[in-house]
Amino acid sequence: MIMCTENCAYQEDGLCNLKKITSFSSKPIKYCPYFRGKDKNRA
Ligand code: SF4
Repeated sequence: MIMCTENCAYQEDGLCNLKKITSFSSKPIKYCPYFRGKDKNRA
């Protein structure tokens, strides 16, 4: 599992739900190519 706290559509409970990513650094995900922002207008 990949820990991630980005406000990303794939992030859930602090973990990345995008199973495709297997080889990934343990850094914060500012540079994640898979980042997909959530719609801030939605609750
Ligand atoms: S796709 Fe990237 S930014 Fe989004 S939750 Fe996964 S690791 Fe984080």
